[in-house]
Amino acid sequence: MVGCELALARVRVLVVEGRTETDPTIKAFGLHVPTVEALDRRGMLPALLQAQRDHAESLLEALTRRRSPLPDPTPRSANVAGHFSGITISRSNVDFGNGSGEPEPAPDMLPVSQQMLEQVLMNRVRAEEAGVELRRGVWLEEFSEHETGVDIRLDTGERMRCTWLVGADGGHSMVRQAAGFDFPGTDPEITGRQAVVDLEDPGELQPGWNRSDAGLYVYTPLTGRILTVEMNGPPQDRHTPVTLEEFQDGLRRVSKTNVTIAFLRSATRFTDNARQASTYVKGRVVLAGDAAHVHSPFGGQGLNLGIGDAINLGWKLAATVKGWAPEHLLGTYTRERHPIGAWVLDWTRAQIALMRVDPRTESLRQIVGDLVNTGDGSAYMMKRLLGLQQKYDLPGGHPLTGCSAPDLQLEGRRRLAEVMHGGQGVLVGAPRLADAAASHGDRLVYVKSPNGTAMLVRPDGYVAWASDDLDDLTGLEDATRTWLGEPAHVAR
Ligand SMILES: Cc1cc2nc3c(=O)[nH]c(=O)nc-3n(C[C@H](O)[C@H](O)[C@H](O)COP(=O)(O)OP(=O)(O)OC[C@H]3O[C@@H](n4cnc5c(N)ncnc54)[C@H](O)[C@@H]3O)c2cc1C
Repeated sequence: MVGCELALARVRVLVVEGRTETDPTIKAFGLHVPTVEALDRRGMLPALLQAQRDHAESLLEALTRRRSPLPDPTPRSANVAGHFSGITISRSNVDFGNGSGEPEPAPDMLPVSQQMLEQVLMNRVRAEEAGVELRRGVWLEEFSEHETGVDIRLDTGERMRCTWLVGADGGHSMVRQAAGFDFPGTDPEITGRQAVVDLEDPGELQPGWNRSDAGLYVYTPLTGRILTVEMNGPPQDRHTPVTLEEFQDGLRRVSKTNVTIAFLRSATRFTDNARQASTYVKGRVVLAGDAAHVHSPFGGQGLNLGIGDAINLGWKLAATVKGWAPEHLLGTYTRERHPIGAWVLDWTRAQIALMRVDPRTESLRQIVGDLVNTGDGSAYMMKRLLGLQQKYDLPGGHPLTGCSAPDLQLEGRRRLAEVMHGGQGVLVGAPRLADAAASHGDRLVYVKSPNGTAMLVRPDGYVAWASDDLDDLTGLEDATRTWLGEPAHVAR
């Protein structure tokens, strides 16, 4: 995603990915609202929706071909909007209305897998002939930083100098470690495993979240996906593949059954190590995604957080490379993204705390469950879960400032998100603002306001300035300089 963003701004990018193929292990399955908005603003939504339709069709085909009977539809799942540590958030309780009118249900997340998203991004990277060189099966082995660049050595023996190095190389990030980023946090206390399986005796397990005094399991009959958690410390071994026996033993312990796995399709271990780099930029080395923060997968936040990092970072780094960035611009990457990462760490830690198996935790779960299933509690949980409260602390008093821009319907049947496919900022306002936008060259495009509100929208889709009076432009010039630099005719 960072590569796509940089290429869009016509920065030359080399992406090295050690794996030759996409990792097939099941991980994320669900894009939250800020992620969907970001991908929509870059024109990738149709490809994702198509991938999702293809997936649904192949799942249906597989289920129809299956010899065993189809699992009963579970009526209780129809009313499930989400979970917090397995505490169900009932859809019927969630009301996003402001109390003045009809109830407003929670939006759904987009059910797209990590692999589908990676495929869409890979296709895009390949299509960006102008900028990205993608090399799969090539590992970054070492690097050293200099005042004007970073010298890198690949495992092919090649050496080259880059102006910047972005470590988007996952939780074990060699870039983070070699560059000496601080990575404080809390130690793990669970062993989690996740797999897609065929069961000999599916009737032994209960669908959904199930707790016992040994831990918990989550069973989704439709896909054969099972997740187990044991509160017995982190896995001894994170690197060898999970065997059928290992998964089955753990599942039997937590389910207190003699369930038998006939076939293990894909399996992985995880834990709740929760750590975050104290800064995301150190000299000419930048971190994004799991390289910058690790935590347990509960709440389905990790991939979404990484895409959010990438969309926040891309245009700022491009501006820095191109030389028009205001001095503080790259520093706002850590300032804006670190608090959101810290929140995700806390959100996942709280869920692990509520998974513990002792009488005190049971009491606490009761209380949290009661609170979650009030109208306000459900709305609060779902807004946080779906990223709807995500906001940056930007200067300016308008309620839209720092928020993701509303997707305005513009003249010519275009949406604001469509205007943003080129990765520029957008100035929305009265026609006389067209000249102000033009003075920033190809960094800023102008569109006519459809609703009497003027806005300066940054390339990542967040509102940097807004006014409800099209004639009151107080603060606009400052905001434009702050985020988009000096007018182009001055800078060039
Ligand atoms: C069981 C499980 C379930 C999850 N469920 C969800 C979920 O529901 N929702 C959600 O949002 N997130 C979920 N996540 C988290 C999500 O998978 C991660 O947050 C996401 O993969 C992070 O992406 P990334 O690109 O930062 O890192 P990674 O996906 O780890 O990618 C890093 C890449 O860098 C490559 N690499 C590493 N070192 C080098 C090197 N030296 N040279 C070249 N290449 C290198 C690796 O091969 C790898 O492909 C889950 C994770 C797990 C384990």
